[in-house]
Amino acid sequence: MATLSFYGAAGTVTGSCSMLQATGARFLVDCGMFQGNKTIRALNDKPFPFDPAADFLILTHAHIDHSGLLPKLVRYGFKGPIYCTAPTADLLGFMLLDSAKIQNSNTERQNRKRQRKGEDPIEPIYTEEHARATLELLRTHDYGEWFEPAPGIHVRYWNAGHILGSASAEMKIPDAADGNTMRLLFSGDIGPEEKVFHPEPDAEQGFDYVVCESTYGDRERDDYTLEARRELLRKELVRGLSAGGNVVIPAFAVERSQELLHDIGVLLAKGELPETTVFLDSPLAKAVTEVFIKHAGTLDDVELDEAALFRDPRFRLVQDVEESKAINRITGGAIIISASGMADAGRIQHHIKNNIWRSNATILFVGYQAPGTLGYYITSGEPVVRIHGKEFLVKAEIRQLGNYSAHADQGELLDWVMERSPIAGHLFLNHGDDDAREEMARLLATRGLDPEKIVLPQMDEAFELVAGDAKSKGRLPERVPRTELLSDWNNDYAALIVALTQRLQDAGNDEERRKIIAALRRAL
Ligand SMILES: [Zn+2]
Repeated sequence: MATLSFYGAAGTVTGSCSMLQATGARFLVDCGMFQGNKTIRALNDKPFPFDPAADFLILTHAHIDHSGLLPKLVRYGFKGPIYCTAPTADLLGFMLLDSAKIQNSNTERQNRKRQRKGEDPIEPIYTEEHARATLELLRTHDYGEWFEPAPGIHVRYWNAGHILGSASAEMKIPDAADGNTMRLLFSGDIGPEEKVFHPEPDAEQGFDYVVCESTYGDRERDDYTLEARRELLRKELVRGLSAGGNVVIPAFAVERSQELLHDIGVLLAKGELPETTVFLDSPLAKAVTEVFIKHAGTLDDVELDEAALFRDPRFRLVQDVEESKAINRITGGAIIISASGMADAGRIQHHIKNNIWRSNATILFVGYQAPGTLGYYITSGEPVVRIHGKEFLVKAEIRQLGNYSAHADQGELLDWVMERSPIAGHLFLNHGDDDAREEMARLLATRGLDPEKIVLPQMDEAFELVAGDAKSKGRLPERVPRTELLSDWNNDYAALIVALTQRLQDAGNDEERRKIIAALRRAL
């Protein structure tokens, strides 16, 4: 018998964290940060709904929504080993320290606000010291190599094809109830089939329980080749630059920036772009690129030596804050790549502020946009958006390219699950919003999976796994009302201010504007 609990990424895509209790051991799979609206992010500040002093942790990959709360876990008592692949450990080496810096500056900003309101200061979720202590606990294993983190429990990693070092985790756990061995597989995040850098996702077949992500469970991409993807990018960049403005690309610091750079580098080298300067504005860019070069042997299909791109005079790596600010003076002809990919934090927000109101500018999104993030509102076609408490008209051309996503699409997810079959016990769908996982469950049923055996776990819900069956043991009291996950009152407030700004702008004259404001005040 074993108990499997879902403490995040259940009905949402962030905060990945599951716990298994079996044969006297208690361990975690991932411990990620919650991202999205303020209500979801507030979960990062609240205590864990479990005792953090677990025996060990199996980490699938370095993305912050899977690894970002590791230092918090260590801060509150976790002392065990954290298992991961070697490239994941290298990426975490600077990502967790950077995350600690971000926590620190967020807290400083909040405390300035709190001080003005006469409220007591708060502490950051964790500090660089906790991040460093976390790095000491990392233990690395290659793909395919079995290891035994606790007596009788065996684990090995499979390539998940998602980002550098990403893995699915296969486990064998003795089942005391019937003397058999339970076989489990956690997908982690699964990559697409056609992708520069990474071989296709891989794993064994035949499990008792599979936990599979469902980020793009309700979305299908057109098939594409790497050449076709680069051609689509070329068209977008040529169109954007020809309009006379800048092309601003929100991209995740790890991986997606590298793929974009790789393709832009190839286009520059072949002379297929108009005259331009490409800025990669990220404090992590250099460190990430070095990790990539170090692990180049594990990557597929690299057409261009990245070092060559960095020597190209049209290419600028921007790490320094002052240099980053200097980009604000450029009103056209540049390609600006910066994080975060969902535009909910980081330097990208400054570049969006400087360009989104210009009709000759382009904002090009290349990845998943979680509900509640700035990227989600911009790509939803909002005419006005709020950034740093100010309203901005959306006059720039808003474009999206799905082909740089690090995630498998619907068809690829379905194929991945079917290739893991037969699944004797249950399939748990996590890491996706409810629409995505309901659609995926429906389609899996049409491919022959027993719908009764597909489970959509709720946040903080636990399951008893025994002899091929999975029974819900119920869930803990709600940490966040389900309705708040997609949109909270802060989102409503922003929408109201945006609508009011728009209405006032559209009003024919000042008299009408005063009438609107008077009516609103009466309503209050
Ligand atoms: Zn990921």
